[in-house]
Amino acid sequence: MQWIEGKIVENIHWTENLFSLKITADIDNFTAGQFTSLALDINGERVARPYSYLNAPGQQPLEFFFYTATNGVLSNALVRLNSGASVWVRKEANGFFTLDEVPAAQDLWMLATGTGIAPFFSMLSTDTPWQRFAHIILVHAVRTAADLRYQELIAQYAQQYPSRFSFQSFVSREQVANSLAGRIPIAVQNGSLEQAVAHKFHPEQSHVMLCGNPDMVKETVEILRQRGLRKNRRRTPGHITVENYW
Ligand SMILES: Cc1cc2nc3c(=O)[nH]c(=O)nc-3n(C[C@H](O)[C@H](O)[C@H](O)COP(=O)(O)OP(=O)(O)OC[C@H]3O[C@@H](n4cnc5c(N)ncnc54)[C@H](O)[C@@H]3O)c2cc1C
Repeated sequence: MQWIEGKIVENIHWTENLFSLKITADIDNFTAGQFTSLALDINGERVARPYSYLNAPGQQPLEFFFYTATNGVLSNALVRLNSGASVWVRKEANGFFTLDEVPAAQDLWMLATGTGIAPFFSMLSTDTPWQRFAHIILVHAVRTAADLRYQELIAQYAQQYPSRFSFQSFVSREQVANSLAGRIPIAVQNGSLEQAVAHKFHPEQSHVMLCGNPDMVKETVEILRQRGLRKNRRRTPGHITVENYW
């Protein structure tokens, strides 16, 4: 594994526990949806964790979207970095949560909790999903309205592809206009997500990518299975591709 020294260009504090880092680093190219590792030397030990690229491949500075985990060692150190500070970035990217692993489908669903939306922004900022899928539905579940970040990117996709892109937010702890209340799995089960975006989960037309909280991923996959969708595997292509953040 090769570590290279990255430099912080900007640290954007969105809320009490959400922030983004923009970093310049001479990394190898990656495929949208992949992750790298970031690390800091803390008390003489290199503490590393995986983080998804939010920026599109080839873009500089690199961008990452973080949650400061309660008592989390690395996230609580990263949040304190100012511009000019150094951070270790793993040169090679990793992971199979990419569109080249996804078979042909009519509709591509991207279901995310919290910072799990990052790899979807990377994918949506490339041409690939727009060339391959007739309709793309991005779903973001958060706790409060203030957690709905990167709305300007979402507005950009909506403006560029008005009839082919839908966005649906979920806010669990507040009532917010145009957002659904509660959690993704329940809304998949009771049909309220499908109703809100006017698209159906169906094995003949859908591919569903899920990223973030492992409970959301597990519960939603179970419900989608009952609807006839199967996990996507290299040997047996299916309809569901997942990335768990912990
Ligand atoms: C493939 C992959 C990609 C990832 N990409 C991102 C990313 O883009 N942004 C990001 O913030 N994290 C991401 N993570 C999680 C990240 O690697 C760390 O686990 C996280 O930053 C916490 O590290 P820590 O040292 O601060 O906390 P630790 O002491 O390691 O605590 C870990 C605990 O924090 C909680 N937790 C971890 N990540 C999150 C999260 N994102 N949101 C809410 N709670 C969390 C869980 O309860 C977990 O058990 C990713 C994980 C994986 C496996």
